[in-house]
Amino acid sequence: MEISDAETIQAAQRCIEPDCARLYGLRDKLLVCPHCGGLLEIVKRVNHAAQELKEMWRARRASNAPRDRSGVWRFRELLPFDEDAPIITLTEGNTPLYDAPRAARFCGLERLELKHQGCNPTGSFKDTGMTVAITQAVRLGARTAICASTGNTAASLAAYAARAGLGCAILVPRGQISLAKLAQTLDYGALVFEVEGNFDDCMRLIQELAAEETVYVVNSINPFRLEGQKTVAIELLEQLDWQVPDHVVLPGGNLGNSSALGKGFFELLALGLIARVPRISVVQAEGAAPFARLFARSQTDERVELVPIAAPQTLATAIKIGAPVSWKKALEVVRRTGGQVISVSEREIAEAKAIIGRDGIGCEPASAAAVAGIKRLVETGFIARASSVIAVLTGHFLKDSDYAINYHRGTLRAPGDKELEGAHRNLPIPVPANKAEILARLDHQTN
Ligand SMILES: *Cc1c(COP(=O)(O)O)cnc(C)c1O
Ligand SMILES: [Zn+2]
Repeated sequence: MEISDAETIQAAQRCIEPDCARLYGLRDKLLVCPHCGGLLEIVKRVNHAAQELKEMWRARRASNAPRDRSGVWRFRELLPFDEDAPIITLTEGNTPLYDAPRAARFCGLERLELKHQGCNPTGSFKDTGMTVAITQAVRLGARTAICASTGNTAASLAAYAARAGLGCAILVPRGQISLAKLAQTLDYGALVFEVEGNFDDCMRLIQELAAEETVYVVNSINPFRLEGQKTVAIELLEQLDWQVPDHVVLPGGNLGNSSALGKGFFELLALGLIARVPRISVVQAEGAAPFARLFARSQTDERVELVPIAAPQTLATAIKIGAPVSWKKALEVVRRTGGQVISVSEREIAEAKAIIGRDGIGCEPASAAAVAGIKRLVETGFIARASSVIAVLTGHFLKDSDYAINYHRGTLRAPGDKELEGAHRNLPIPVPANKAEILARLDHQTN
């Protein structure tokens, strides 16, 4: 169903292509715009004043109702569901914002704060989007939810589908996802298909399967997922007492998260909850940086198109993506906010990750790319030493403990079999079962 009269509706799916911009109903099961193939986004009219929203959202923090306790559904005035819609939630969101003095020093900043989205129910920001996508799957009466995944989307989908009593099937590139993520997905009861191919092959299969009546696709091309993920912008600003930071930096793979974060800030701006938006910068791994290359070309060419990378390479598997689906949305966000897109080496990611650990925080490799990117952007002068900077940590440390143990043992091998000699290695010390031997070594701890 195509909607022609935008004035009479409260919420819709809209094609992002400016010369199409067709509207579709919220109950239409679509992957992309059926007319032009463009990406879809959700638009919604909000009937509350800025101050009213702030007060309402704050008051809900004292409530025990599930839809108030969720760090996503607490902001439901900006989500495309009725106030009393049945929701599928695991109490996602509500993630901590940490001060990180060691990481700040490492980056050359006076101050750095880390928004730890790894502290979600299944250990990554994917949960904030999945709660909305699975709620939508239930509204549509879907029987099976499916996705292609580098691991975290799989774990998240499996958990939320289990909560909803919905079937779910997952396509992963064989042998390319971390064991912890695979283990979670199996434990939540998903059907896991290990595809001979890479993530982009899985994505192509998903697009073919999407045509099936009973199947609902929850990859980040799904605009309902991005609605959930955008709420991190609101939660972050609440934590900052609505003081807008100068920079927000995050890793980019399929670029759904960058798109969602930008959408969140722009909606707050439009509603008058903030007076400006932060610069949003995206960091990729050197071996999987199609968006960084696109951004470099976009400086001289207004109408750039993404050139996919056939065989992306990085140990940061969550951002090992060669053909990011949401690049158009993300490019718009980076351009409109005045941000940058850069890539960092495997070594830079590894050292940044170890430093984040030294702040007592920890994250998975892809998340550390954000901090490695901030260090670079301070060096180039794009980020000033005294500015307020937020790094979004996208995934939990335990998602990839193999990486960490290999780093500390000095056995981490980057693509091309390059050895990464960690500057912040910390090895276990073999000792005899003897108090004096242990005491003698305690003094050697460096800080
Ligand atoms: C999914 C994911 C990313 C990449 O996010 P996109 O929306 O695909 O750009 C980065 N880090 C972690 C830990 C992830 O799970
Ligand atoms: Zn269209």
